[in-house]
Amino acid sequence: MSDTRSSELYRRALHVLPGGVNSPVRAMRAIGRDPIFVERASGAELTDVDGNVYVDYVCSWGPLIHGHAHPEILEAVITAAANGTSYGAPTAGEVELAEAVSARMPAVDMLRMTSSGTEASMSAIRLARAATGREKVLKFAGAYHGHVDGLLAAAGSGLATQGIPSSPGVPAGAAAATVVVPWNDEEAVKVAFAEHELAAVLVEPYPANMGLIPPAPGFLELLRDLCTGYESLLVFDEVITGFRVAPGGAQELTGVLPDLTVMGKIIGGGLPAAAFGGPAALMERIAPAGDVYQAGTLSGNPLAVAAGRATLALLDEQAYMSLSTTTRALADGLREAAGDHPISVTSTTGLVTVFFAAEPPTDYASAAACDLETYGAWCRALLARGVYPPASQFEAWFPSTAHTADHIARTVEAAAAAFAEVL
Ligand SMILES: *Cc1c(COP(=O)(O)O)cnc(C)c1O
Repeated sequence: MSDTRSSELYRRALHVLPGGVNSPVRAMRAIGRDPIFVERASGAELTDVDGNVYVDYVCSWGPLIHGHAHPEILEAVITAAANGTSYGAPTAGEVELAEAVSARMPAVDMLRMTSSGTEASMSAIRLARAATGREKVLKFAGAYHGHVDGLLAAAGSGLATQGIPSSPGVPAGAAAATVVVPWNDEEAVKVAFAEHELAAVLVEPYPANMGLIPPAPGFLELLRDLCTGYESLLVFDEVITGFRVAPGGAQELTGVLPDLTVMGKIIGGGLPAAAFGGPAALMERIAPAGDVYQAGTLSGNPLAVAAGRATLALLDEQAYMSLSTTTRALADGLREAAGDHPISVTSTTGLVTVFFAAEPPTDYASAAACDLETYGAWCRALLARGVYPPASQFEAWFPSTAHTADHIARTVEAAAAAFAEVL
């Protein structure tokens, strides 16, 4: 496979973009290679600037649940663009998207749109602090909620990928307002509640930024009970799980209802959009209905709203059945391809992780103990065979409704060959 043009672009990029990229994990450093520059993509397939074609399992890290350049989503965006790209005034589309979201998400009656998941989780925390009159927020090691100052402690995702425990430049006060405990650790959570006045518990209900590590049975229920008992708010970060693991996200899948929900990725259908929402009694604290300030020049942008609406409209029962079948075929196929090697595969509808460990990790510490070097070598071997995996042990694979049985079969074959090469 040639990489002449990618290499040339990367050399130029290093002079004008820190690390050559606009978001760290794209640099592929964790798997020991240079980044691949993309020319175009369609459905489940990505073509790089050197003409190499890959079956894509990153799909923009989650937004593209229908794959790339879906004709109906494209048409919605083109139509919206022709009518003007932004007005700074409300539109019908925003009302319709908000109605569609609240119809799907059990705990969302009212929502505020933002342009990124980072802004949405930052604003949800501000609201939780205002509503409770408390400052501290509990989060889990290895969970990612965007690059908000106070939420970067032990933040998984790109930080884990780069081996950054937490970022310099975060004020001590912001870090001190965050309490971090291990995922799935009931005792540590109980101690944290007893020791701190918590405004909120911020949780990825199916964490996918330390690889996919589902909650232990009863763990989310425990968080719900403790939040209710201590009058703290339970905030689900469903930026990845929303509209993916079930139409109503992890809150529908598990039946555990949060007080506030953070959404992103799929809600913008591949354009910049995110949101946070909850019951009217809480959400009407947000300006201009209430006194908690929150705003955005491009929030509810007509192009992103059009892409989000078209994406949700395509997510019917048939789409979830197909996504579930595809996910199961991918997870089972990867397990089979690994044979007797010490590999474990976790999955739920729309999410898969291949851990280089004999037992599936249960928290960030056990995920970090995986054989990261061999994971990297395996990813390089997959790329050489036309399969594009997440370039980090700490990110999930994102199958889409555009992945066919043939894509899965090609992937499993490439995976078996790649395992044989590196193990
Ligand atoms: C991606 C992500 C975010 C941040 O969203 P951005 O749009 O990248 O700011 C927050 N939470 C989770 C769970 C995510 O996966």
